[in-house]
Amino acid sequence: MASRRSGSTARGVTMTNPDTHSAEDVEAGRLLFTRAWTFSRGSPGLDHLPPDDRPEVAFAGRSNVGKSTLINALVGQHALARASNTPGRTQELNFFTEPDAGLYLVDMPGYGFAEAPKDKVAAWNRTLRAYLAGRRTLLRVFLLIDARHGPKSVDDEIMKLLDGAAVSYQAVLTKADKISRTDLERVTERTIAALAKHPAAYPHVIVTSAETGAGFEDLRATIAKLLTSQNA
Ligand code: GDP
Repeated sequence: MASRRSGSTARGVTMTNPDTHSAEDVEAGRLLFTRAWTFSRGSPGLDHLPPDDRPEVAFAGRSNVGKSTLINALVGQHALARASNTPGRTQELNFFTEPDAGLYLVDMPGYGFAEAPKDKVAAWNRTLRAYLAGRRTLLRVFLLIDARHGPKSVDDEIMKLLDGAAVSYQAVLTKADKISRTDLERVTERTIAALAKHPAAYPHVIVTSAETGAGFEDLRATIAKLLTSQNA
């Protein structure tokens, strides 16, 4: 199995995809996500994680960033991931799978709710840290950032945590349809600049809109390619 850290570099973060997808990658991505993905289990702590018997990719981001919407759009289902996460809701790592896909999709609890009690935040940070540091099958974390706001200090903290765990991660802008093209270019540049300071960040930002479907071909092909490289 190749290292989960493959592909991570801080240099030359660009809007242009460094590994432009071939028609085969795009098709593999499409096929991977036309499968019937289902909820496998929710894990409130590390003792409830499923066995690390297959690769996984995880999705992280501030509460309300559009994570549930993105996961649902990724798999072409309306209700796989919970449509809304409310403050104080049980903080779980949710695992989705499909029998033949050989992959877990992991929905990480949203962070950054100002209203969340401090002890819950501390507990979540501990779980997150331990999961990231110990999950050898974790191929990549997709770090979702709201295109309307760009990276916030709380995102920066997560990036530092990911750097510390040496987990490859890639930024995904969400809700691109909500802002003008000019603002989108500006926020993408700002995201790129923020990522360039982080050693484990993957050098390509995926810009998505669940509303228009923009960026999902890229995201699906990226995941399919990660999976193929693991199985090679
Ligand atoms: P989560 O807390 O990160 O899981 O966020 P949700 O998926 O519940 O999304 C938060 C809000 O943003 C909801 O009202 C979604 O409908 C909206 N949203 C999410 N993605 C998009 C998008 O790509 N475009 C638009 N216009 N709205 C979005």
